[in-house]
Amino acid sequence: MYPWIYTRAKEQPNDLALVTDQARLSWQELYTAAHKLASAWASHLSRGDRIALYGPASQSYIIAIHAAQLLELTIVPLNVRLSQRELDDQLKRAQVKYVISDRTLDTDIKILPFHYTKTAPDIIVRHMPKHYVQSMLFTSGTTGRAKAVEQTMLNHFSSAMNAARHIGSSTEDRFLIVTPLFHMSGLAVVYRAVIYGAPIVLEPHFAPTKTIEWIKNERITHLSLVSVMLDRLLEAGLRRYDLRVVLTGGGPVPLPILTRALDRQIPVMQTYGMTETASQIATLLPEDALRKIGSAGQAIAPTDIRITRHQEIEVKGPTVMKGYFSDEQATVASFTADGYLKTGDLGRLDEEGYLYVLDRRSDLIISGGENVYPAEVESALLSIDGIKEAGVVGRFDSTWGQVPVAFIVSAVEESTVRQAISQLLAKYKCPVTYVYRDALPRNANGKLLRHQLKEFV
Ligand code: ATP
Ligand code: MG
Repeated sequence: MYPWIYTRAKEQPNDLALVTDQARLSWQELYTAAHKLASAWASHLSRGDRIALYGPASQSYIIAIHAAQLLELTIVPLNVRLSQRELDDQLKRAQVKYVISDRTLDTDIKILPFHYTKTAPDIIVRHMPKHYVQSMLFTSGTTGRAKAVEQTMLNHFSSAMNAARHIGSSTEDRFLIVTPLFHMSGLAVVYRAVIYGAPIVLEPHFAPTKTIEWIKNERITHLSLVSVMLDRLLEAGLRRYDLRVVLTGGGPVPLPILTRALDRQIPVMQTYGMTETASQIATLLPEDALRKIGSAGQAIAPTDIRITRHQEIEVKGPTVMKGYFSDEQATVASFTADGYLKTGDLGRLDEEGYLYVLDRRSDLIISGGENVYPAEVESALLSIDGIKEAGVVGRFDSTWGQVPVAFIVSAVEESTVRQAISQLLAKYKCPVTYVYRDALPRNANGKLLRHQLKEFV
């Protein structure tokens, strides 16, 4: 394979490639900039080197992503919201040669600005080995310390091609990115756009009104979101406009939010995937949205999804990671003898092969021998009028083993909530304690961090 940006510039030089608040670039312009940056980098960096990308989503960030592929470098996009301690830890574990950043950072590692210019001979564009590690992405750290996942060029390419076959693609497609580029959902779109030849609109800070403006003004067709973002967009009046694909994933989407979106004909597609599978591996198509509500859809061929006796989801396919970087033990432990990735998520497949993700195995609450899935309880809580956010975790109990505890953001009185939830859920699933909060802990992508709530029960 040639570097994607090179092929794209050859095939569609004048088509729109990137839109930000500041600029509109064609594929040729994007390629020229990436090639220039790669040529300047070439005296410091060579194939196989790792570089950290640290900064807000921007035109130069996208250029750096493409420049890295031209030189066969591995990018390590880092979360800009990490604490100094977490940042030090990730930089050390990733063993990067340079950090690409416009900020001053407290680190011994050499820093190069995103706008790096140097007179240097032009690099020659070559074919790329498809098993080259193109990105190393840290998982979201939802369950604890983030893991460094090695993703190959083939992982990303397969992910893009398989998804396009599953959900369809067209020359009219236009992607809006509002999720961070250092998480899978954002980065996957950058790669898909260049593989398909579709423009991306880049918004570094998610804000509902601005997002809706982009969707309207730029005739956006594709959008990836986590459920809190969808919720806020619905509140701000999101309608269908030209949207064709609204992927929601990264965590369970509470049913009330899904239903509200579907009521407005917004083509929400529940999707399931993880950093270790280079994004989505199952997606529910709009024609099944109501018939299979709550499902993340069928596996995206040729990826296979199976469920073990203990309800764990296992996956095999071309998008599955090479492994965890420099951690042979964790890599070996995460695969079965026959090569399936153990996801750590619990789910079930119905008779037609539709996947229902129940929850993370580590978050499962077993109360009096019965399974309580926090996601189900959260979904029920959110269907109660006036409950804005909900998070449910287990607490040790000498009688039942564990009992569910709810953290909510709401002005509704506890007695009213208790009364309402008892109408919706079996008694053993009803939270025994309610903790009122102004906000719940979430990561940069808006994902609920249940492990932080566990510290308070
Ligand atoms: P960490 O692995 O560091 O704890 P993380 O698992 O949240 O963090 P990601 O790779 O970004 O990091 O997220 C993938 C996880 O998100 C999945 O393993 C799953 O638990 C959850 N998830 C993704 N899609 C869905 C979905 N449709 N329904 C329920 N959960 C989902
Ligand atoms: Mg994970």
